[in-house]
Amino acid sequence: IQDTKMKTFEEMESAVRSYSRGWPTIFDKAKGYKLWDTDGKEYIDFFAGAGTLNYGHNDQAMQDKIIEYIQNDGIIHSLDMGTTPRKNFLERFNEVILKPRNLDYKIMFPGPTGTNTVESALKIARKVTGRDSVISFTNAFHGMTIGSLSVTANSFKRHGAGVPLHHTVSMPFDDYVEDQDSIAYLERFLEDSGSGVALPAAIILETVQGEGGINAARMNWLKKVEALCKRWDILLIVDDVQAGNGRTGTYFSFEPAGIEPDVVCLSKSIGGIGLPMAITLIKPEYDQWGPGEHNGTFRGNNLAFIAATEALKNWESAEFSEAVQEKANFLRETVEKLIEKYPQLKGEARGRGLMQGIAIEEEGLAGKICAEAFQRGLIVETSGPNDEVVKFLPPLVIDREGLEKGLSILEESIIQVTA
Ligand code: PMP
Repeated sequence: IQDTKMKTFEEMESAVRSYSRGWPTIFDKAKGYKLWDTDGKEYIDFFAGAGTLNYGHNDQAMQDKIIEYIQNDGIIHSLDMGTTPRKNFLERFNEVILKPRNLDYKIMFPGPTGTNTVESALKIARKVTGRDSVISFTNAFHGMTIGSLSVTANSFKRHGAGVPLHHTVSMPFDDYVEDQDSIAYLERFLEDSGSGVALPAAIILETVQGEGGINAARMNWLKKVEALCKRWDILLIVDDVQAGNGRTGTYFSFEPAGIEPDVVCLSKSIGGIGLPMAITLIKPEYDQWGPGEHNGTFRGNNLAFIAATEALKNWESAEFSEAVQEKANFLRETVEKLIEKYPQLKGEARGRGLMQGIAIEEEGLAGKICAEAFQRGLIVETSGPNDEVVKFLPPLVIDREGLEKGLSILEESIIQVTA
């Protein structure tokens, strides 16, 4: 937030300034969809840790289970050892998520973060195909370590590596060029051995690009990508780190497309209460690592397993998902009304489920709206290559009152900055 007169946390403290966001306050407490700072000021959270707090802050049942476990001297750290929380998570994930969807995946723990699951997916695709290259899409974001950054299509972020990032090709995402069939373009490159586009090990995509500007791929486009992968014997990796865990209304963001990726990356909200955790789902035939070929110290966070198992209760019936869809419809309708009511925004509604945004043409205006909203008690962030999209990711457990209150702060902020 650049337009505020107040100092950001990084300016107040001697923290390294490598992160794009800085909020001019010190936060103290949080519950559900609300946070409070040290002055007791209340904020509504439309950011949710960039999709990490789908179940809200400090869910009571998750908190109780974790406290009980610690008080009973449960094992906190266990590398890859079998533990009760790990066993329970694996069993419940299979029962509640995979089986009802007829999905057959091996579950691996790649490390605690989103970038760890993407790295593991890229590695396994390269190992099983023996190929080097990976195709990703314009405006993709997959992480900040060398491998995941190499499939991230943002030149500013890539510049942060300080070295050339090899073996990846960026292709146009769905609707990147309006009314152009990006699949035909991709197909042509693959067919033409002289094109310079080598047959890749994998194609990696987000069904809704989060950091890249809330670009939602159409279901038909996703189906075509899957068909193309099958035709060319390429692994399809869906990075559901931000769009998964119910963010778009279904547990996996790709469910409405009826596709079955070869590898699925999940992190962020998988840890339930905001604890670091990631999983990589791998089709059984690609489970080809020998012991020790891919390991890491923090792969067995038992507190995260406990919260993650508790979070799965939300998916035992259709109720949770239906409620998310209903709230999503309300959010989308309100966003569209705001765009109509304030034509000076020249806004465009984007997104799917509770992953929505308003793209705003005028440079810097989206950031100004977010900074104004913050002063008024709403945490909302920008995304997109030029920070031109105001992005809404409220916790999925937010109620109607919270959504209405947040959206009315947004409207006040639009009025203030466009007056
Ligand atoms: N993939 C996607 C789609 C993401 O949105 C993110 C984080 N914003 C990542 C990967 C990387 O996750 P992490 O920051 O935990 O490494």
